[in-house]
Amino acid sequence: MRLVIMGPPGAGKGTQAVILAAAIGVPHISTGDIFRANVSEGTPLGIQAQAYMDAGEYVPDDLTNAMVRDRLSKADCSAGFLLDGYPRTLEQVEELDSVLAGVGASVEKVIELTVDVDEVVSRLLGRSAEQGRSDDGEVVIRRRLELYFEATAPLTALYEKRGLLVRVSGIGTVEDVSVRVLEALGVNA
Ligand code: AMP
Repeated sequence: MRLVIMGPPGAGKGTQAVILAAAIGVPHISTGDIFRANVSEGTPLGIQAQAYMDAGEYVPDDLTNAMVRDRLSKADCSAGFLLDGYPRTLEQVEELDSVLAGVGASVEKVIELTVDVDEVVSRLLGRSAEQGRSDDGEVVIRRRLELYFEATAPLTALYEKRGLLVRVSGIGTVEDVSVRVLEALGVNA
């Protein structure tokens, strides 16, 4: 299965992605996690990405697309994957289409986790206190949400037109939501 999970920062996307990827046995590919690993290792990619991440802005498409293209070319992705946090722009949607078309494949389902904006702000502020992520201050949180709703949420319409979009409410406990996600995909946990 080639899947994408979308949703605003704080929707619980990363947590659900881990559960879902394990349930269906595909690699979980989080572009945010890959960027954070590069930042902490001080790689050239990490050095280029850090300022954008700290400001809550998107890392430029050329850097992000090259990183995802490389990751998807690995053997473990040949039978499927779950992309978390990618695509976020129209250029990334087009890049993903073209990478997959190159191997005669395509995205099969796109899960959109829907939440209430006030709820995600309070979740993110809570996470900021717990984890001390450098992009979790309140101003940056608001910018990340604004960017999601301006630049990324509209992309779901595109997947909806293709008949691939599955909307799942992200409200409730981790378990409530994961049961809903698995049911929506017809996967037996
Ligand atoms: P996330 O953990 O998915 O919220 O990602 C953390 C940060 O990494 C984002 O705020 C962006 O700065 C960067 N990032 C992750 N994925 C992408 C992407 N697909 N396009 C551009 N920037 C990204």
